[in-house]
Amino acid sequence: MIFWISLIITIKIERMSKAIKKNTIQLKFDSARVYEPALESKSAAKIKPVYDLFINGKFEKPLSKKYFNTINPASEEILSSVAMAGKADVNKAVLAARNAYERTWKKMPAAERAKYIYRIARMIQEKAREFAIIETLDGGKPIRESRDFDVPTAANHFFYYAGWADKLEYAFPNRKAMPLGVAGQIIPWNFPLLMAAWKIAPALATGNTVVLKPAETTPLTALKLAEIIQEADLPPGVVNIITGAGATGADMVNHPDINKIAFTGSTAVGKIIQRAIAGTNKKATLELGGKAANIIFDDAPLDQAVEGVINGIFFNQGHVCCAGSRLYVQESVYEQVIQKLKDRMETLIVGNPMDKNTDVGAINSREQLATIQRYIKLGNQEGAEMYQSACALPKKGFFCKPTIFTNVAQSNRIAQEEIFGPVLAIQSFRTDDEVIEKANNTAFGLSAGIWTDKGSKIFNLTSKMRAGVVWANTYNKFDPTSPFGGYKESGYGREGGLHGLFPYVKLV
Ligand code: NDP
Repeated sequence: MIFWISLIITIKIERMSKAIKKNTIQLKFDSARVYEPALESKSAAKIKPVYDLFINGKFEKPLSKKYFNTINPASEEILSSVAMAGKADVNKAVLAARNAYERTWKKMPAAERAKYIYRIARMIQEKAREFAIIETLDGGKPIRESRDFDVPTAANHFFYYAGWADKLEYAFPNRKAMPLGVAGQIIPWNFPLLMAAWKIAPALATGNTVVLKPAETTPLTALKLAEIIQEADLPPGVVNIITGAGATGADMVNHPDINKIAFTGSTAVGKIIQRAIAGTNKKATLELGGKAANIIFDDAPLDQAVEGVINGIFFNQGHVCCAGSRLYVQESVYEQVIQKLKDRMETLIVGNPMDKNTDVGAINSREQLATIQRYIKLGNQEGAEMYQSACALPKKGFFCKPTIFTNVAQSNRIAQEEIFGPVLAIQSFRTDDEVIEKANNTAFGLSAGIWTDKGSKIFNLTSKMRAGVVWANTYNKFDPTSPFGGYKESGYGREGGLHGLFPYVKLV
């Protein structure tokens, strides 16, 4: 009897382990854990009902006399009314920056400049909670990401570049690094505070003054930063923060007294900027779109790789220029990876960004949601096979289910164009050469990911991938000391690290 029972158990265990190996067992999520909401408090952050333009160290009413509303994309509630800078306001901000450059900032000893930048870094840390709340309310990203990634990384950028301010002779040995003058900086809505830090910190460290324009849908953390800059007693005009729409950005690009344009955003606007500054002596860095290939080889630690793919495409709802939005899986592990991916997608918590449990928050705007939905429809029309997690979406606000497409062809638009949402296009491959060819077959070249056990494969691929950043056995890792930027239609110039100083200096 005991013999028969143990035989039956052994057979059952063997069958189960075979099924697990083949991954034919599907995890069941109908009994999924239910998390009690863990809401961050809105009242811990102060948002003013109206914000003016931050020019010459003061908040000033716009000469345009116009304002626009910024809303919470998770609830569609109005958060604040924000000044719309017109041409005359841009002129005023540039003049303030020019005067501050000539009269104080470029003459100030570098170690003194560094003290101000350190002060900004420390004040961001002190007000970290408030920044995180405002970032999440205004942009829709999960509070966990604002709190654990955006805000600390922004502070780290200021710390890092504060350290460089009085050491430029070591950054550029035997050369003298001179500032350029006034930098016009235009940033997008996906990492509003962090992008402001990426732009402002190296500019100040190298002795330039700044006019910065945040994106129309996410101006609030930049304005909070303006309050800090005021409190930090930075000489008036060194940093000017003006809010507005695309036309405000265009006025900055065309302004004759701006020496350098630093832009992060779409490739389409990057091209407009490129044309506008052609023939002028403005320097520019353009950090544009991407369509990164995340590649899983059959020798990779698959669970770790799947985790990296999830992070690569669903972090910040996929509103990430370096998002791993194309997945290439080696044929022998294809079915297994897809199943693991689907299982993991079912555990993602989609919903209220202010809930600390939330993994995928709100899409940044109604327009961006419409763009993503257009691409999802297109993917289906192109014949790809769609899978979306079974989660329920909130009734109000802009939300999108985590989505993957299999049976994708290399020529499909969902495999070629930047969707900027939680949508992954998946293909299989057999050989290294094939995947290198496929991964590079794109107009973009910002980032890539490789998952394999073999160091030799990593070296082979990293040297052949046309991408500015290549992560191996990890994804979406950022550090102020590390340069970031692209090839081809992903733009040019580097931000971060020693390389990030170069676009703000002329070497004599
Ligand atoms: P944009 O490129 O239009 O916006 C980026 C920034 O540029 C914003 O501050 C915007 O202002 C400003 N801007 C817009 N038009 C001009 C102009 N003619 N001259 C100067 N500045 C301008 O991106 P969107 O926000 O419209 O997003 C559209 C698509 O761009 C997304 O779907 C995504 O594919 C891509 N994108 C890529 C990003 C990246 O990091 N690679 C970041 C953001 C978007 P305003 O917001 O006020 O219009």
